[in-house]
Amino acid sequence: YPKQLCGKLEAAANFCFEGVYKEELPWGNGHINDTYRVTFENEQGVKKHYILQQMNKSIFKNPVELMENIVGVTEFLKRKISANGGNPERETLNVIPAKDGKPYYVDSEGEYWRAYVFIENTVSYDLIDNPEILYEGGLAFGRFQSMLADYPAKTLHETIPGFHDTRERFETFKKAVEEDVCSRADLVREEIQFVLDREEIVDCFQDLLRSGKISFRVTHNDTKINNVLMDKDTKKGICVIDLDTVMPGVAMNDFGDAVRIGASTALEDEQNLDKVWCDLELFEACAKGFIEGCGGKLSQEEIKLLPMGARLMTYECGMRFLMDYIQGDIYFKIHRPGQNLDRARTQFKLVSDMEHKWKVMENIVKKYM
Ligand code: ADP
Ligand code: MG
Ligand code: MG
Repeated sequence: YPKQLCGKLEAAANFCFEGVYKEELPWGNGHINDTYRVTFENEQGVKKHYILQQMNKSIFKNPVELMENIVGVTEFLKRKISANGGNPERETLNVIPAKDGKPYYVDSEGEYWRAYVFIENTVSYDLIDNPEILYEGGLAFGRFQSMLADYPAKTLHETIPGFHDTRERFETFKKAVEEDVCSRADLVREEIQFVLDREEIVDCFQDLLRSGKISFRVTHNDTKINNVLMDKDTKKGICVIDLDTVMPGVAMNDFGDAVRIGASTALEDEQNLDKVWCDLELFEACAKGFIEGCGGKLSQEEIKLLPMGARLMTYECGMRFLMDYIQGDIYFKIHRPGQNLDRARTQFKLVSDMEHKWKVMENIVKKYM
C-alpha cells in the first residue's frame, strides 16, 4: 500500500464490508481505541455503516487473545438473544471478519484493526443527569451479567492481568510510597493514610472467592454508562459495547464501577470537593436497574455486597490515581499539574461519603433482593 492508503483505508479495504467505500468519520468519545464510522454503498445505492476500530496495543498487549474473548462472548450472546426473541444484530456487538476470515486485520504498520456492525439510531451518554438513564445503564449491565451467567468464565483470557487484584494493587501502592521517586509523598501524607487505614477492605472479595462463598463470573470491567448504547427515541438501553476488558471477575465490581462514575455528583477531577458526593437517588436507580437486569442470577450474598463493590472500586481507583501522582503521572494522562491528585481526592471523598451513608445504601439494595 502507498503511505497515504495505510491505516484506516487499508483496514477498510480488508474487512468483509458490502459495497464500495464512501467515507469515514471519527466516531464517539472513547479514550482507549481509535474509532471510526465507515460508510459503504451497494449497487442499489443503499448506504451501510460499520464501526472500524484501531485497537490500543499499548494497553492490550495481546490483541489476538482479546478478540478471541470478544468473539466467544458475542457469539454466545447472539444465540441467547435469538432464543429470547430479541434482535441479535442490535442487542450485542457483531464482529465482522476480515477478508482472510480472522476477526481482526493487521495493517502494514503492524496495527490491529477490528470491525463491528454499526448499531443505528443510538446515543451514549458521557454525563448522567438523571436517574432514568442510570437505571437503563444498570439494567443493561445487569442483563449482560445474566445472559453470560452460564458462560464458562474460566475460558476467557485475562486481557489485563490482575486488573482488580486489589491486594496486589495495595502492595504496589505501598512500594511506590516507599520508593517515592518524585519526592511527592510528603505532600500527600493524609491521602496515603486514607488508603492505609482501609487495608481491611482490600481482601474482602478475594477471601470470599477463596472460601467459595461467591464465584467468578464473566464481568465487563469498564461499566461506564457511555459503554451502553441507548435507543435515540425510547432512551432504553440497547447494547453493551466496549468488550476489551471482559474477563473473569466478581459481579459487584461491575456494579461498583458504574456507581463510582454514574452516581457521583461531579466529574472525576473536580477540584472543589464540596461538590462531590454519592447521590443516593442515582445509587438507587443504578442498583434497581442492575439487580432487575441480573434477573435472579445474583445470589443473596452478592446482592448484599453491592454497596461494598461501589466502595471498593472507588477506593481502588483513588489508590491508583494517588499512586500515579506519587510516581510522576506515568499511567493516566494529565492535562494540568496535580490532576491525578485531584482525581484521587474526589474518589476518597466519595468513599468517605459512602461510609457515612453505609446503612442507607445497604437498605436500598435489600429492597430489591
Ligand atoms: P473505547 O474503548 O475507546 O471507549 P468503544 O468501543 O467504547 O471504545 O467505542 C467508542 C465509541 O464508539 C462508543 O462510545 C460509541 O459511541 C461508539 N460505538 C462503538 N461501537 C459501536 C457500534 N457497534 N455501533 C454504534 N456506535 C458504536
Ligand atoms: Mg468505551
Ligand atoms: Mg474501552
